[in-house]
Amino acid sequence: MGMLTGKKALIVGVASKLSIAYAIAEAFHREGAELAFTYQGEKLKDRVEKMAAQWGSTICLPCDAGSDEEIASVFATLKDQWGELDILVHSVGFAPAHELDGDYIDVTTREGFRIAHDISAYSFVAMAKEAKPLMQGRQGSMLTLTYHGSQQTLPNYNVMGLAKASLEASVRYLAGSLGKDNVRVNSISAGPIRTLAASGIKSFRRMLKRNAERAPLGRNITAAEVGNTAVFLCSDMASGITAQNIYVDGGFNTCAMSMADMEDN
Ligand code: NAD
Repeated sequence: MGMLTGKKALIVGVASKLSIAYAIAEAFHREGAELAFTYQGEKLKDRVEKMAAQWGSTICLPCDAGSDEEIASVFATLKDQWGELDILVHSVGFAPAHELDGDYIDVTTREGFRIAHDISAYSFVAMAKEAKPLMQGRQGSMLTLTYHGSQQTLPNYNVMGLAKASLEASVRYLAGSLGKDNVRVNSISAGPIRTLAASGIKSFRRMLKRNAERAPLGRNITAAEVGNTAVFLCSDMASGITAQNIYVDGGFNTCAMSMADMEDN
């Protein structure tokens, strides 16, 4: 029996085989979960449907994270088809490209700030509101993906760092709201992984190099490692864990300086 056997999970944020959400879906399927998916816009429909089919899933729905109507429609369909939900995975992040290229004070705009927070942080609250009634009487679990740029500054991550800080605070508030319903809410702070979203961050290759050099494990992490952590956090094995941000970054966030930094000068 898998760690998620008997659980029904909605996975939001698959865009390609490189997506962190793809690795999470793969791990959830391996552990026996029944899966449903969303895709952003018609362009991704065929691709995500094919991926869903490979895991035996027939529920694959359009969802723009900026639209309350589309979010409501996803959960209405889940109510019809499943009647209940155990797991929500929110693996969505977006900021306009010009916000992620240059000095924070120069490139940050009111509109870019609004969009980054709306899509990357508020959408998790919007989805949690809709998921809550479907999780009544179950051991529900909600999970989102964040990055350490919420806690420490780094070049070009800019307004995404603020949106991720908001998302992490929201995890704690949502956990406070939903604990009495036996729903747990957590985030995974992943180290850098080459994905479509990551390619939008200028100097991402240098981030990968720095992370590998500085992290105690001496390497970058894989999406599969995030998938395995997601399995644990969304399983009943983690029944005592809520309102937490779990780092899957090879330990990078704990390390101020590495031997490689000393050798640079
Ligand atoms: P990805 O590009 O594969 O996934 C990002 C997803 O967000 C895509 O599926 C995209 O369709 C979706 N999305 C963006 N705007 C949307 C909208 N308006 N409506 C609906 N969906 C929308 O990249 P990823 O790296 O797998 O990103 C997933 C999450 O992981 C993001 O929150 C990202 O910030 C986070 N994360 C990524 C890394 C990394 O290095 N790749 C590290 C830490 C955290």
